[in-house]
Amino acid sequence: MADKRDYYEVLGVQKNATDDELKKAFRGLAKKYHPDINPGDKEAEEKFKEIQEAYAVLSDPQKRSQYDQFGHAAFDSGAGGAGGFDFSGMDFSDIFGDIFGDLFGGGFGGRGYRSGGSGPMKGQNLRAVIKITFLEAAFGCEKELELTLKDECTQCHGTGAKPGTQPQTCTRCGGKGKVMFAQQSLFGTVQNVQSCPDCRGTGKMIKEKCPVCSGTGYTSSKKKIAVTIPGGIDDGQSVRIREKGEPGFNGGPRGDLLVEVHVQPHPIFQRDGMDVYSTAPISYAQAALGGAIRINTIDGEVEYEVKAGTQTDTRIRLRGKGIPSLRNKNSRGDHYVNLVVQVPTGLNSQAKDLLRQFDALTGDSLTKQNGAAGNNKKRSFWDKNK
Ligand SMILES: [Zn+2]
Ligand SMILES: [Zn+2]
Repeated sequence: MADKRDYYEVLGVQKNATDDELKKAFRGLAKKYHPDINPGDKEAEEKFKEIQEAYAVLSDPQKRSQYDQFGHAAFDSGAGGAGGFDFSGMDFSDIFGDIFGDLFGGGFGGRGYRSGGSGPMKGQNLRAVIKITFLEAAFGCEKELELTLKDECTQCHGTGAKPGTQPQTCTRCGGKGKVMFAQQSLFGTVQNVQSCPDCRGTGKMIKEKCPVCSGTGYTSSKKKIAVTIPGGIDDGQSVRIREKGEPGFNGGPRGDLLVEVHVQPHPIFQRDGMDVYSTAPISYAQAALGGAIRINTIDGEVEYEVKAGTQTDTRIRLRGKGIPSLRNKNSRGDHYVNLVVQVPTGLNSQAKDLLRQFDALTGDSLTKQNGAAGNNKKRSFWDKNK
């Protein structure tokens, strides 16, 4: 802290400088030393921090008076005096907003405009949709997708320049990808920065384009991609296939391919999470007498023993006959079956006679059992016609 320069000296103003004088001095210095105007220049960056700190203190009347009294010691107290100046809560955006306009994409602090820079970057993710059947979703499947994928051009290795030539450094921006232009404003001439129009921000110019990729650096081709769909996947879920997306930049990895699954409806089965639902018809006799029936499940037909006296719409549960879990295929949901009693139609005369006899036999007990009155009337009708 001892080697810290005096804040007034840093800004090049008198001790009795007015707020306006301070602001003007700061603007002038900020324009000169802003790191976005001096990319990679450590000295300018240090200088910029220094003037920023000086202005932060002197532009605040309370801090300024503390500084006037105690010097740098006024701000050395916290964290054993070792820490730097705390800028949190300081807002320079109005000042930098004037100076740099919107061209930095979001004002001071936003260095995002350099994102096209030199580091390796992962490519963009790609998305695709695949249609599978209900049973393929339940038990998993192998599918193949045909996609048009970009690849780095093998002729120019992604530079876009004709083999044997190199992309040239853009003369307009000197390879920075940004150009500055002067603009008149209330505060005098202001330097603005924008993406270089000649090289579109790449910093490189291609004199002779690669004939294979027409200078884009990429070639596109149809590729077959194997997709493993895990059992238990549900409609709308996605499978991620690593590094089958767009190529990366500057040696970065490819993006991923996200394959969204659309499950076709099944004619018999419905699904809710890991459970399966279906309906199975049983005959009137089966419902009354009980007996073995066959029920369709996703594993195929299974035999089920219907209890005597089963009412229509009885729901039974077939444990472990549902959808396997995505995480553990040995863990499965259940299959719920609604047993629906079929009322016979189109009976022949023999069947009708038997049913009448049956009705006559059971009418009394049914009536008593259900407390229904309707059957008595019916019986008298039958009696009359005997
Ligand atoms: Zn350029
Ligand atoms: Zn090429």
